[in-house]
Amino acid sequence: MHEFYPLIAVGAVVGVLSLIFVAAYAMMKDKKTAIGFDRYMADGEILRRLFKYAKPYWPSFLAVLVLMGFSIAYDVISPLIIGDIEEMIKQDFELEPLFIYVAVYASILVVSLVCTYIHAIILQKTGQKILSSIREDLFMHIESLSHAQLSSIPVGKLVTRITNDTNAISMMFTNILVNLVKNIFVIFVILAAMLLLNYQLTLMILCFVPFIILFTVIFRKFSRRAYRNVKDATTDINTFTSEHLSGMKIIQIFNREERKQQEFEERNRRLGRAKRQQIFVFGIFRPVVYMLYISSVLCLLYLGGRGYIKDTVFLGQTITSGTVVTFYMYISKFFNPIQSLAEQFNWLQSAFASAEKIFTVMDMEPQIVDSPDAIELSECKGNIEFKNVWFCYNEGEWILRDVSFKVNAGETVAFVGSTGSGKTTILSLICRNYDIQRGQILIDGIDIKRIKISSLRRQFGQMLQDVFLFSGTIRSNILLREEGIPDREVLAACKYVNADKIINRLENGLDEEVRERGNNFSAGQRQLISFARTIVHKPSVMILDEATANIDTETELLIQDSLDRLMSFGTLLIVAHRLSTIRKADRIIYLSHGQIKEQGSHEELLRLRGRYYKLYMMQFDRENSKKLQRLKNST
Ligand code: ATP
Ligand code: MG
Repeated sequence: MHEFYPLIAVGAVVGVLSLIFVAAYAMMKDKKTAIGFDRYMADGEILRRLFKYAKPYWPSFLAVLVLMGFSIAYDVISPLIIGDIEEMIKQDFELEPLFIYVAVYASILVVSLVCTYIHAIILQKTGQKILSSIREDLFMHIESLSHAQLSSIPVGKLVTRITNDTNAISMMFTNILVNLVKNIFVIFVILAAMLLLNYQLTLMILCFVPFIILFTVIFRKFSRRAYRNVKDATTDINTFTSEHLSGMKIIQIFNREERKQQEFEERNRRLGRAKRQQIFVFGIFRPVVYMLYISSVLCLLYLGGRGYIKDTVFLGQTITSGTVVTFYMYISKFFNPIQSLAEQFNWLQSAFASAEKIFTVMDMEPQIVDSPDAIELSECKGNIEFKNVWFCYNEGEWILRDVSFKVNAGETVAFVGSTGSGKTTILSLICRNYDIQRGQILIDGIDIKRIKISSLRRQFGQMLQDVFLFSGTIRSNILLREEGIPDREVLAACKYVNADKIINRLENGLDEEVRERGNNFSAGQRQLISFARTIVHKPSVMILDEATANIDTETELLIQDSLDRLMSFGTLLIVAHRLSTIRKADRIIYLSHGQIKEQGSHEELLRLRGRYYKLYMMQFDRENSKKLQRLKNST
């Protein structure tokens, strides 16, 4: 009996450890409510959707599986060769057979290494291809979302989906799945080989398996939580960073650097904590599995050692030194895949969580789509009609109430009204950036819901209230990747809107670099460039929102002159706070709280002596007093 004491001691240590882990497992509360981790897609569905991306590459995966067979063969055969060498050395040592053994071992090793290298390369290449097609699909889908949908998701979150989450998925194809298959295969093949060699020793090793399973289950729970925390903290920090980098100038102007730094540090610390927690969990799991491995090796050496010295029979089978050596190698080859299996399941979980987040974005049905019988609007005269239009961004909060007006082709119509009265909203409805709840919007007598969106938007030249320039060149910003327009026409458009004055002053002309958001240009310059962008495609209808804001007198005159020219360009809808810019409009519509209060020409509205008249007089007084002030200052 006493000869089994060492084995019992090992069992006791493993048992105590198990008790501690089970207690920790029972005490841990599962925080399912952590932000952004509410899984609702079944693993099967995620796999099915992911496999759709992998399907075109099945020959590559097949090749990888075949190549993998060679490295598995190495795992199985190499311990046998070493065991035979050991037997041979012990019994009657001869150099020649040893050379043969070594040569066979070396050849298998080389073949296995080459195969591993090739299959790693194939996997990386395939994984990257799958990854880029997922990324492209995601980006394309995001492009198809409506304005309302886009403003419901923070930009940082979308960036995380396109970068971090797609990376997690790429890991799955390049590493996890194939290794998962390989490891499962290796475990069974090694197990079979061990059973054939010595089933009693195999049974001894199998005694450790329940503990491995137990530890793995416990580890999974801890590591899932750690992963979840890391993911949430990463999304959080990305969202915060992208928003605050865009608004950094405001932070500096308002002297809020320290405050924002604290907020950033808080998020950074949270991410750091989550990462440490993850490292800690792995830091415990790996040594524990290693301990099990060492324990089984100790048991093997104890039993084997005795067998070697005294020819001990363990459960009826004699253990030779060759068996001990072979088993020693098999144990490590058996434990390694088990340990990585547990980790790979975790990576898989993490990849699934990422995939689910990506698919959730992809599952957002674009709200504004072409109706099945949508027609192509090949030519547009520019007649626009709003018929009893009601619209709200959020249900129940009406922004436009029963708005009706008509714009005839070639007319210039201006919208005025206090801030928040719905001017920008009206303009964005014409291009169908949002769908209206009640009423009808007609272009040349056709309901815009019946027109193909792309053909509808092609007819409009739209200049938004906040001018946005992309990084690139002036040319790329004016053309926005539309091809086939020669420089001559681009320059003509620039000249038409007086943007040529800016471009001529630039060293590289149209090729001058534009930095992110056009921050190396002034507000007025940006406006003139975006005027050129608006008219270069020769749209039938021009829509200008707030065309004259925050600009110097010289640029204002330039813009005013451009506007005068644009008025003869085609149908023009314009919003301007400065009434001097729209005096020449054919019609002025005065809005208040989403309703049309007055409409008519400048003179008509002045004669009416209503709201427009008041607004005009107010501006007139203010401008006069400014002039007076300037006069006083100069004298
Ligand atoms: P301004 O003269 O300041 O440009 P505006 O007349 O153009 O004002 P709109 O931008 O049309 O005003 O906004 C009208 C109303 O709709 C405002 O009360 C605003 O709060 C609301 N609103 C505008 N855009 C959105 C949006 N994306 N989601 C929810 N509400 C919005
Ligand atoms: Mg506006």
